[in-house]
Amino acid sequence: VARHMLEKMTWTEVDEAISRGVDAVLLPFGSIEQHGPHMPLDTDCFIAGELAKRAAEHAETEGVRLLVAPTVNVTLSWYHMQYAGSLRLTTETFMRVFTDVVDSLFHHGFKTVIVVNGHGGNVAALTVAINSYIEKTGRRVPVANWLELAGDVVSELDTPTTHAEEAETSLAIALGQRVDMDLATNDAFNRSDAVRDAGLPWSAVGRYDAHHRGPGAIVPMDMLRDISPSGVIGDATRATRETGERIAEVVIPRLVQLAREFAERAPSNDPHPNQEVLEPWK
Ligand SMILES: [Zn+2]
Repeated sequence: VARHMLEKMTWTEVDEAISRGVDAVLLPFGSIEQHGPHMPLDTDCFIAGELAKRAAEHAETEGVRLLVAPTVNVTLSWYHMQYAGSLRLTTETFMRVFTDVVDSLFHHGFKTVIVVNGHGGNVAALTVAINSYIEKTGRRVPVANWLELAGDVVSELDTPTTHAEEAETSLAIALGQRVDMDLATNDAFNRSDAVRDAGLPWSAVGRYDAHHRGPGAIVPMDMLRDISPSGVIGDATRATRETGERIAEVVIPRLVQLAREFAERAPSNDPHPNQEVLEPWK
C-alpha cells in the first residue's frame, strides 16, 4: 500500500516511480467538520483518501499506475462552525491551496492529476478552481465526487444525500470509518421545510440541496445548526454496510476508468499559451 502513497515514499522512490511512468496522481480533498454525533470530524478525508487508495490498488491489477497525494484536509466548512471542532479555510485561501498543491504535482512531471473529492461543500469552489486553472495553465484537472460517481446507486435509495446521512454513513461503514450507529439520527430530512421552519430566508423556487432535482434558484448555504441540532441532514439511521459496499463497488472502478482515460490523452508538459510565468522556484 505504501508504494502508492506519495507522502509515505522517499524522494528517491518517487523519482524512480516517475522514471518508470506514473499514469495519474489522485489528489483527495476532504474536510474537518462535524458529521453528526455518530461519525468523526475527518469523515470526508477518510472517505476520499480510502477511495483513492483502493482505486490505486485496483488500478494496479489493470496495469494502470496511480499514486495518491496527501489529502487536503481543512477546506470549506464555514457553515459547520457552530459545532465544536470543525475547521475552515476561507474560499480565497482554499483556491490558493488548490493551485499551489496542483502546481507542485505538475512541477515534478506528473502529467495527469485527478481530484477525488469527499466534501459536497467543496464542489462549487473546485469547479471554479479547475476552470481557472486550465484558463491559466492549459492543464485539465477533473474532479471526481463520489456521490455523483455513484449516482445510479444512490438515486435508488430515495433519500436526501446531503450530509452525514444514509449514503455517506453507509459508505463510511463499508470503508472502515469509526461509526456509532446507536447515535445515528434523522434530522432536517426535508431541508427546504427545515430552512422555512427555522424562519430563515426561504423560497419554494430555491434549491436548498446540491442534489435537488428540477429547476430552482441557487441559494447560499445555511449555518447548519440553525436547521439541524445533530448536524445530520437526512436520515443516518437507514445506513447499512451493504449500501456502502454497493457504492464503493461502483465508485472505485469508475475512478480508475477516469484516471486511465485522462492519462491516455495527457498532453505534454509544454507551456500552454495561457501559461503564467510565475514559477521562479523551478
Ligand atoms: Zn461528509
